[in-house]
Amino acid sequence: MASAKPLDPQAETELPSSLLKSLYYGQIEEDLVFPFPEIPGDVKETVAAFSGAYRDFDAANIDSEKIDRDHFFPREVVKAMGELGVLGMTIPEEYGGSGFSSAAYCKMMEVIGPLDAAASIIVGAHQSIGLKPLLLFGTEAQKKKWLPDLADGTLVAAFALTEPESGSDAASLKTTAVYDAKTDEYVLNGTKQWISNGGFARFFSVFARIPRLEKDAENGKHKEICCFAVVTNPDGTLPGLTRGPEEKKLGLCGSSTTQIIFEGCRIPAANLIGEEGQGFKIAVETLNTGRTSLGAGAVGGSKAMIRLAVEHATQRKQFQTRIADFEMIRHKITRMTAKTYALEAMVYLTAGLIDRGVPDYSLEGACCKVFGTETLWENINDALQIAGGNGFMNEYPYGRALRDSRINMIFEGTNEILRLLLVLSGMKELGDHLKEVRGALKKPLENRGILTEYAHKRMKGILTSDKLTLVPPALRAEADLFSKYAGVFANAAETILRKHGKKVVDREYQQERLADVLIDLYAQLATLSRVTAAIEKNGEETSAGEIEIARWFCHESKHRIVGNLKALERNRDGETTAISDRAYEAGGYPYDLWQ
Ligand SMILES: Cc1cc2nc3c(=O)[nH]c(=O)nc-3n(C[C@H](O)[C@H](O)[C@H](O)COP(=O)(O)OP(=O)(O)OC[C@H]3O[C@@H](n4cnc5c(N)ncnc54)[C@H](O)[C@@H]3O)c2cc1C
Repeated sequence: MASAKPLDPQAETELPSSLLKSLYYGQIEEDLVFPFPEIPGDVKETVAAFSGAYRDFDAANIDSEKIDRDHFFPREVVKAMGELGVLGMTIPEEYGGSGFSSAAYCKMMEVIGPLDAAASIIVGAHQSIGLKPLLLFGTEAQKKKWLPDLADGTLVAAFALTEPESGSDAASLKTTAVYDAKTDEYVLNGTKQWISNGGFARFFSVFARIPRLEKDAENGKHKEICCFAVVTNPDGTLPGLTRGPEEKKLGLCGSSTTQIIFEGCRIPAANLIGEEGQGFKIAVETLNTGRTSLGAGAVGGSKAMIRLAVEHATQRKQFQTRIADFEMIRHKITRMTAKTYALEAMVYLTAGLIDRGVPDYSLEGACCKVFGTETLWENINDALQIAGGNGFMNEYPYGRALRDSRINMIFEGTNEILRLLLVLSGMKELGDHLKEVRGALKKPLENRGILTEYAHKRMKGILTSDKLTLVPPALRAEADLFSKYAGVFANAAETILRKHGKKVVDREYQQERLADVLIDLYAQLATLSRVTAAIEKNGEETSAGEIEIARWFCHESKHRIVGNLKALERNRDGETTAISDRAYEAGGYPYDLWQ
């Protein structure tokens, strides 16, 4: 899909495994950023035709207002979505799917999301997460057995990880799988909570613990977890499996969300996906791939909000003036447009990395999810504000958009947990490296190699201002700003890691700041790469609008970056803890003026 060259497996030791993890060394891997992935003409045509067909399908079959009112998405429409091929987009052609690249799938999610949020959850829960363990870790026999039915919607998939007592701390799940040698089956017991597609799915990726597996000394909880394909009979039943009632939700009312209860549910041993003990890794890798497409949905939703906001602002007059001409309205439209541009750049740069076979895109996917879901939320809020009182009325789409989009910041890893991931994963590599360097320093002469490598990495990091060589002069100032703050970020991350050591995991105030800097840096980098490609293709004059956006976004985000970096050293964290402690002690607000 991307025109950037695929990674050469021979050269992989030379290339970094992760663009953003490299930033922790202050290294900017231009090879992974430039050129911005170009979408080949034939892929554009295929996706345009398919999205056109989907739009027609949506207009003829999906009545979003009724679905939202009835809290029900008609099952025959799900079946028709399968027949249309929407449920098989990511499944390779050899198994009956369309074999879409990550970028093509993202584009489709961008189209589906704003048309009907419940439909996009059906597609996403099925494809982004539900069948993904099978696609990523299944054996050939398992793929041949189930993927063709999953591609045409005969089987709809769901991803069953969360439990009543185990949400963000997914590794604490309690559902058990006990092997019965007599029948060569696993017996499942436990309750899964809030499972999307739960009411009608027939294929479940279920995560359960095998208690007999030996505990790993350091991380026992993870090592027992396994992933199983649980497939129901054609009528949706399976002995020992019960579906709970539909949850009554704030938004996404048409999507099906239920408990899945296992009581002595027997499944063939051949339904184990991956190896015993590999389940946590499977869950994490599945969620890593799904997050980029959530960002893509946010791109589609944001574009829809900009369209509505511009339409209203240019038509509505107050004080004999179009409200579009008031500067406070302009500011909102500009903010919405620039952040959406940066988000779109981030999503398709990440999709390009996935399509090129970059082995680790976990941090990039997390950025797409956090930045995307928060940008969409702010954009809906801005569009609603521009609509004034109409924005608050149910006959307008803003209220439902707010309700539907709110969950994005909670599921597939809450945005808090993803901020921790962005920092702790990056720091882990840095920490391992520092440990190695510390060890090497004890015998410097024997370990010259390690020390030289470290010195090389740090020097490269320190000299980052030279790194963005491929950004054209029109954006040189922004590229230099990026390089400067990428270097400051790397130094700050290392300082914090050295200061707190292992206890850095408890320093969440600092982690939140570092995560927000990293997200802004990635958004800047993606934007600069995208505009560079536009200038190279169309020239500076034609790209003037995009250059302006890049300048606007880079300078606006610089203020956040500087604020967060300063606060790493000078902050009010002590007071933050004390004030929250008093609220906890009082059981709420402690200072009622009238008491
Ligand atoms: C509509 C809907 C659909 C869903 N679909 C699925 C599905 O298909 N499959 C599935 O398996 N699950 C699904 N989920 C579950 C979802 O993934 C979880 O709700 C989510 O992981 C958060 O878990 P929790 O709700 O238990 O919150 P908790 O983990 O209890 O977290 C509560 C709050 O505390 C914060 N928090 C927790 N730990 C930390 C920490 N260390 N530092 C800072 N903050 C922290 C969280 O960010 C959150 O703000 C769905 C949920 C909903 C509502």
